[in-house]
Amino acid sequence: MKVLVLNCGSSSLKADILDENGVRLGSLRAERLGSDDARYRLDGAVTELPGADHGAVLAHAMAGLVGDHQLDAVGHRVVHGGEAFSAPTRLDAQVEAAIEELIPLAPLHNPANLAGIRAAREFLPAIPHVAVFDTAFHATLPHRAQAYAIDHDVASAHGVRRYGFHGTSHAFVSRAAAEFLDEDPRELRVITCHLGNGASACAVEYGRSVETTMGMTPLEGLVMGTRCGDLDPGVVIALARELGLDEVDRMLNRSSGLAGLSGVGNDLRDIEERASKGDERCRMALHVLTHRLRKHIGALAAVMGGVDVLVFTAGIGENSALVRSRACQRMEFLGARLDRDANRDAKVDRATPVIEISEPRSRVKILVVATDEELEIARQACTVGLGQDQIAGGLPSIPIGISARHIHLTQESVEALFGPGHQLTPRNPLSQPGQFACEERLTVVGPKRRIEGVRILGPVRPANQIEVSRTDEFFLGVDAPVRNSGDVKNTPGVTLIGPAGQVTLSEGLICARRHIHMTPEDAAVFGVEDKDVVDVAIHSEGRDLVFGDVLVRVKASYALEMHIDTDEANAAEIKRGASGKMIDATGRVGRLVRRKAWR
Ligand code: AMP
Repeated sequence: MKVLVLNCGSSSLKADILDENGVRLGSLRAERLGSDDARYRLDGAVTELPGADHGAVLAHAMAGLVGDHQLDAVGHRVVHGGEAFSAPTRLDAQVEAAIEELIPLAPLHNPANLAGIRAAREFLPAIPHVAVFDTAFHATLPHRAQAYAIDHDVASAHGVRRYGFHGTSHAFVSRAAAEFLDEDPRELRVITCHLGNGASACAVEYGRSVETTMGMTPLEGLVMGTRCGDLDPGVVIALARELGLDEVDRMLNRSSGLAGLSGVGNDLRDIEERASKGDERCRMALHVLTHRLRKHIGALAAVMGGVDVLVFTAGIGENSALVRSRACQRMEFLGARLDRDANRDAKVDRATPVIEISEPRSRVKILVVATDEELEIARQACTVGLGQDQIAGGLPSIPIGISARHIHLTQESVEALFGPGHQLTPRNPLSQPGQFACEERLTVVGPKRRIEGVRILGPVRPANQIEVSRTDEFFLGVDAPVRNSGDVKNTPGVTLIGPAGQVTLSEGLICARRHIHMTPEDAAVFGVEDKDVVDVAIHSEGRDLVFGDVLVRVKASYALEMHIDTDEANAAEIKRGASGKMIDATGRVGRLVRRKAWR
């Protein structure tokens, strides 16, 4: 494996060629891009390139960087993958456009990432380019950890939720820790503390991120180099009134954190040095940083009901014995006992990437792990199937609609049940255009029991149809087949009781086949046709489930939504607002490969 890994910031560019062991075969660093001082360093030699942007640097340096290496892929770091990307994704025009759409969520990062992607794809058009997202590792956060407690409709409309960042690092070091301990990551509860200029901690429970300190943007959580971390939102409101929103934005991102507290900049080395000489602000900066860190470690342990491994990584985590020791103070109640000597002497590097710094009797293993985000990106870039027909990820999620038991009626039945000339009264519109829930409800009578208050859906149809779950069938005492909507031939009948009469149907009771409504445009995006049968994976809180035998229904008037009944929703612990992903034959989220014929 030889992979070029690109990590582009707004005015910087880092490019490394790595082999499968993480050995750097070439390295390019560019800084001050877009300014008169723009320059790059290629394997030691500095070239000044006034005014150069990402594209200009790559044009100038790419041939020298790549040399004779036969590259297998280019892995691009992309900070924000939003809801759309939960896996490394092969780049094409559509994926680029989706990353562009996410710019409002990461205005500092995604534009720079995209600039690098576009330039690199132009210069290396023949090899696959793969986007690896900082947010993707946290796609497993349960809903309760994703949500902010604000108005649900506002949050949905504006994509306000917690995403988490530093995913490649949390993934890499949690796995490296398990390997070092010769344990299966699926049996460990790990807290990873990525403490660099940006900082976040993550609860990795049995291999999956279940909580992390960063949120919708990389501003929440721990005290960072220049970012404030946790803050009462009231502070933002109060300061914005005084200073204006842009100034508050600048301040919280660029002159807060260690820099704001200490007044001497964001480099912890300087702050430690001055604190040791009695500088009060630097001492306070250290106290706030380590107090906040300890507080979050405790919270993450509480989320997992305990912790087996505590990992420190990145610039500060790997190098500051002081921060590590303060973070571990009074952690004995958790079973974490730091070995002071081992902590002081720990020095990780590529040759010795993991060092244990806990006492032998400590139940919680405390480790310093050298992170290698470039290697993780390179590895992830190689996990993506690179054939055109196997492009993974990047497809829209499919919203899930949960259908409670309901009734469709003919106009004739409406009149028999509610009186001559009665028209159904719309109560609220449904997701499919033209469909609505009605005010009217009926009692459904089966051989064993009856269910009252079953809602009617409008408009009226050519045939009566009652859709119930398997649980309802048992309750009513009747066996209904799984059928597509409208296919009621030879199904059991029931009696319906309304305020003006009752109707005994000879057929019409079905358990609806799960299905996806979509437009022809959606079908083109998913690569499916009407009546295809596909698999849809649901990620939920501890009850992930793949629904097979999902019928695709394509019509211009439909809106994209998968419909399942209440039993199916309960089986996967699905709540309102959930979504699923169409999956391919290997179980990877992505474009459809498996497409069964309609039976
Ligand atoms: P990163 O973003 O992972 O490169 O981390 C950068 C930060 O690590 C710097 O801003 C320093 O504050 C910190 N750092 C690096 N080396 C040391 C060290 N030897 N002691 C304390 N902090 C360090």
